[in-house]
Amino acid sequence: MLPTPTSVPPQLRDSHGRALRDLRISITDRCNYRCVYCRDGEEGTSYSELSNEEYLRLITLFIPLGITKVRLTGGEPLLRHGLVDLVAEIATLRTLFGEAPDIAITTNGHLLESLAAPLKNAGLRRATISMDAVDAPNFEAITRVPRSFERVLAGIRAAKAAGLEPVKINCVLLRGFNDNQIEGFARFAQQENVIVRFIEFMPLEEGRFWSRDLVIPIDELVGRLSRVAPLVELPPNEAGETAIRFGFKDGPGEIGIIAPVSRAFCGACSRLRLTSDGKIRTCLFSQVEHDLYGRMRAGLNDEALRSYIIRVAQQKEQRHHIGEPGFLKPSRSMVHIGG
Ligand code: SF4
Repeated sequence: MLPTPTSVPPQLRDSHGRALRDLRISITDRCNYRCVYCRDGEEGTSYSELSNEEYLRLITLFIPLGITKVRLTGGEPLLRHGLVDLVAEIATLRTLFGEAPDIAITTNGHLLESLAAPLKNAGLRRATISMDAVDAPNFEAITRVPRSFERVLAGIRAAKAAGLEPVKINCVLLRGFNDNQIEGFARFAQQENVIVRFIEFMPLEEGRFWSRDLVIPIDELVGRLSRVAPLVELPPNEAGETAIRFGFKDGPGEIGIIAPVSRAFCGACSRLRLTSDGKIRTCLFSQVEHDLYGRMRAGLNDEALRSYIIRVAQQKEQRHHIGEPGFLKPSRSMVHIGG
């Protein structure tokens, strides 16, 4: 029985006092791209997926605890059969909980052209598209999928046309690999009037070749961008926003820099994650997972499952330890966790 909405929803917190409002849920770890810095090309482990009804029940457990944002991720979530129906069902929770949840998606955009409008009509609010180059040859060398660039560009424009605003573009930057795209992306942000966010490369790849030398730190990046067009720093949209925002003095477009390595933001982290097979990850770099779905399958009722979530949230790691002695890579790579 869903609890009746109260005036002030309880707030899920971890033992460091951080309010946890964002749930990122991977609804598949399948992907139609094999990006060279993410997948080493070998079809490795694949984790199971749950039914729409099971994902909906899991999400419904979190909303009354204070989760206000639900981001659907993958692998590639647009590959998920019944995605539009799932979004519509999640959106029905708003009849019970007012504005929550605010539903967003992170996608590689390959299938977005035809799905943007149906997803918007179903209740999706925002779309973030992963894109690591702004020209077809470089883009397709990264994704290892022919003619993928034009598909993603069409997907971005369809998302804007459908009103999935603000449309954000996430580019993972690696030195000597796609940092030759920085200036092109600055112009792309202005021309397409989208928000381009550069993300520092994190040790979450399958191939295990991460090193700090491959990371373009924020100060260097701002320097290079400023040579393209003068930037002006913008205030965060909300507390805990991961991107440091910049506008262009001379026109539209916005740049964000997400710098988990050179300027970590764990202190304000508000995120919990659910894997495609229903396990809670309290941090992107967690070494342990908490089997919520297993307990649901074992017959625990919603109240008991919520108590379990509250206990797990208390165990959330204070921060990551990237590049520190003893740093351990997470037990799953990014494609199996979701952004
Ligand atoms: S590394 Fe972990 S604690 Fe830090 S911001 Fe990411 S998820 Fe949050």
